[in-house]
Amino acid sequence: MGRVCPVCKNDLHLKGRDVIPDGLSVQWRLDVQERHAVNRREGDICAECGSSLRLIAFASVVKDVLHGRFEVEVSSWGDIPDALRRSGKVLDIWECNDLSVLHPYLQDTPGLVYTQYASMLPEVPSEDLMDLGFGDNAFDLILMTDVLEHVLDLGAALSEMARVLKPGGAIVLTVPVLMNRKTRQRAVLDSSGEVRTILEPSYHGAPEDELADLLVAHEFGSDVTSLFQDFFDVALHNEEDLPFGANTVFVLTTKS
Ligand SMILES: [Zn+2]
Repeated sequence: MGRVCPVCKNDLHLKGRDVIPDGLSVQWRLDVQERHAVNRREGDICAECGSSLRLIAFASVVKDVLHGRFEVEVSSWGDIPDALRRSGKVLDIWECNDLSVLHPYLQDTPGLVYTQYASMLPEVPSEDLMDLGFGDNAFDLILMTDVLEHVLDLGAALSEMARVLKPGGAIVLTVPVLMNRKTRQRAVLDSSGEVRTILEPSYHGAPEDELADLLVAHEFGSDVTSLFQDFFDVALHNEEDLPFGANTVFVLTTKS
């Protein structure tokens, strides 16, 4: 029996596309194998629902966390709203950036707060990750894919995320990462709060995404785990096993 897509529950047939442009590949110093791994993470998508390997891995880990940590049984990603209602549990969940193909399934989720990172649309709320507008211990579960590489002060963002996470809560997140190298910082905030680029400016995403700021601040490597460990206990999941740990999903929990 083949695999089932954890998002749409159809038999998983992957369609491959090349999505990493030459310019980004050069800036990121990707060799042929690394570029292939990153292309697969973003470009291999479920033929039925369009979820990339990144989103499939992310959805799978979120389901496991809901089951293991919160005792909410979820049959597929689309079952999350109903599963929460069935469980009678009230979880405060923050969808911290638009989860793309996964986003529409969550619309009806009880207890969900939705923001879009760097939203330029006035009707879509956004949060400054380095200075969150939420109170302490606001969320049981925080969901985030591929945002932290754009945040200029990573320590400030992780500190804020730790502040708003309830004891016993969990953050499920992805970042672009290649575990065969060390983190390289491309841009920082200077002492006056201005963005200073260290390397040639590099961008992810496309203008049609309607996001204000897609400048890459960090190219993450294996030491990302220790950066997270300054604030959280960290578990790594590699269910969609790509070379160089390119499709790692991180689960951050309050320090024990
Ligand atoms: Zn699917």
